[in-house]
Amino acid sequence: QVAARADGVWKVYGSGEAQVVALRGVNVELERSRYTAIMGPSGSGKSTLMHCLAGLDTVTRGDVYIGATKVTGLKDKALTRLRRQQVGFIFQQFNLLPTLSAEENILLPLSIAGRKPDQAWFDTVIETVGLRDRLRHRPSQLSGGQQQRVACARALVSRPEVIFADEPTGNLDSRSGAEVLGFLRDSVRSFGQTIVMVTHDPVAASYADRVIFLADGAVVSELHAPTADGVL
Ligand code: ADP
Ligand code: ADP
Repeated sequence: QVAARADGVWKVYGSGEAQVVALRGVNVELERSRYTAIMGPSGSGKSTLMHCLAGLDTVTRGDVYIGATKVTGLKDKALTRLRRQQVGFIFQQFNLLPTLSAEENILLPLSIAGRKPDQAWFDTVIETVGLRDRLRHRPSQLSGGQQQRVACARALVSRPEVIFADEPTGNLDSRSGAEVLGFLRDSVRSFGQTIVMVTHDPVAASYADRVIFLADGAVVSELHAPTADGVL
């Protein structure tokens, strides 16, 4: 089961002398219920690849799939609907709305999509991220780690095909970072969530099942964590 796929994806920004080739025919297949990290030096194309996979950015050549849906070629309206239904985002800067409570932030993607939350699932997500006693707080009343846990809950509550996390621990101290990473890993193990995370941090990447290394717009190597039935 493939949650997302890039097939020979090229991304070229600008033209003429200002032209930048950000991706050079990238092929990746992201299996369902896996935690994948994308690493590589600054400028290697990590954000571009993630944005193309998430349907936030168009590709110059090649195809992108989310689940069974071919993203490339979708019209804006269909693309927006696909992103709302199938994709969750976690950002370095949390991107919570300051005037809304934690609970309202968590439910926002569902409200925008006109969907009702499943109460049992909402409760499960809240227990998992440990936010039960913080639901009425505003973002400014929460620590960075708590804010990122709100963002994780917001991504998870709509049960998207894939959650894309862009440097999710970049603004956190190491203890809060470890909590968030542990929670993301739990959501893969317990709920079968698929997660793709861009990170510079080797500690963050060590939580993943698989690490894809990019350099100069191409996949140059890959690591897989041993599976339970793989070794010993
Ligand atoms: P990374 O996330 O690994 O730092 P990016 O995907 O952000 O790399 O960038 C890859 C290359 O594409 C870099 O050379 C960057 O300068 C260029 N790039 C990224 N976004 C744009 C853009 N909007 N316009 C022009 N060039 C861009
Ligand atoms: P950066 O990684 O440069 O700090 P962000 O993480 O804030 O930037 O955003 C990364 C990209 O995701 C940007 O190109 C932005 O347009 C897009 N983006 C930001 N917020 C949202 C959102 N709530 N929904 C969809 N796309 C978003």
